Amino acid sequence: MSLAISREIFEQMERHARGGFPLECCGLMIGRLGGAAVEEVRPLKNAWQGGDLERRYAIDPRDWIRIEKEFSGMERGIIGVYHSHPRASAQPSAFDAERAWPNYFYLILSVPENGPITARCWKLDEKDAMMRETELAIGEGARMAAGE
Ligand SMILES: [Zn+2]
Repeated sequence: MSLAISREIFEQMERHARGGFPLECCGLMIGRLGGAAVEEVRPLKNAWQGGDLERRYAIDPRDWIRIEKEFSGMERGIIGVYHSHPRASAQPSAFDAERAWPNYFYLILSVPENGPITARCWKLDEKDAMMRETELAIGEGARMAAGE
């Protein structure tokens, strides 16, 4: 199952990642629960407290709960998490894999000093606790996949 993202929403994440450079940015992806199309994103503050914000991120649990409540009882909700890797590839770190939850999409944006941002998407495989890559459809393909 590939994750579908419209060009507009992807650009919103790119701006967030670029604006926070060289620190990691993070946010939540909203869509139909059980689906694989991002309908909106919620850029959040990187709440990591351990320093080294160039290589670490955390989502404040209060932000997560607030957004979960907002969609409570709806068919839409949190389907994934995005974060950036400034000056690094879009490969999940051991830190990312340890903190990943099953059933969520994890989108990682690789943000170079200069040049275009690239993204890859991952999901936790519960069997062996490894992150497995999921196909990503950005733009026109995304609209079709989302059934628009
Ligand atoms: Zn990471």
